[in-house]
Amino acid sequence: MNGKEQIAAAIERILSELDGRAELLAATKTVPAELINFAISKGVRLIGENRVQELLEKYDAIDKKNAQIHFIGHLQTNKVKYIIDKVSMIESVDSIALAREIEKQAAKRDLSMRILVEINVGNEPGKSGIAPEETESFVDALAAFPHLIPCGVMAVPPKNCTEEEKKKNFQKISQKFLDIRAKKEDNKEWSIVSVGMSGDYLSAVENGSNLVRIGSAVFGERNYGGENNTK
Ligand SMILES: *Cc1c(COP(=O)(O)O)cnc(C)c1O
Repeated sequence: MNGKEQIAAAIERILSELDGRAELLAATKTVPAELINFAISKGVRLIGENRVQELLEKYDAIDKKNAQIHFIGHLQTNKVKYIIDKVSMIESVDSIALAREIEKQAAKRDLSMRILVEINVGNEPGKSGIAPEETESFVDALAAFPHLIPCGVMAVPPKNCTEEEKKKNFQKISQKFLDIRAKKEDNKEWSIVSVGMSGDYLSAVENGSNLVRIGSAVFGERNYGGENNTK
C-alpha cells in the first residue's frame, strides 16, 4: 500500500486530470480508516466500500463530516439492514429482490436511499448486474419502491479486452443512461454514470462517465491474501 506522500500526490494528480469533468470516488477496500481519513483531508469527498463487514468495522473511525460513503460491492439482501443508515448511495443494485429489501429497510427508518443500477455491460456469465437489454424495464420496475431514488447507472466492465472494446463498453453504458434520461426529463436525480477505475478512468470520462471509482491508483496495489473480491 502507498504511503501518505504517494497518496496525496496521486489524489492531486487525479483531481487535476479529471478537471471537474467527473467526481472522484476513492475505492477503499482493504484501506485502513487512518489512510481513508488522510485521503479525505486531501480532497476526497466520496469513498466506496465493497464489503458490509469491513464497512462496519471502519465506520466509526471514518471522517463522515467531510466525505460520504457509497456501497459499491455485491450486496446480499440480508445485509441491507446493517448499512442502510450508513451510506449515502448504494451503487450496486442488481436485482428486484435487493431493491425490495432496500425499500423495506429505508421505509422502516423513514429515509430515502439513492441508488444506481448496476449493468453487466459485457453480459458476462456469473457476474453481478442487470443485462444491458433489460436495464430500462428494470428501472421502470423501481417505480414501485417510493423510498428508492434511482440516480443513474454503474458498471464494472469486462477486464480483458482491447482499448477499442473498452471504449465501446463505456459508450454502451452512457447510452443506456441517456436513453433512460430521455424518458425521465423531469427527474433531476437521474444524473450519474459511475464507471472507470484505476487503469481506464480517463477513457471512461471521455466516453460519458461522471463518477470514477479509483482504488489502486490512489492507495497502491492491494494484497487480498487470496482471490480478489471485485469480481
Ligand atoms: C476495487 C473497486 C474499484 C477500484 O478498482 P481499482 O482498479 O483499484 O481502481 C472500483 N469499483 C469497484 C466496484 C471495486 O470493487
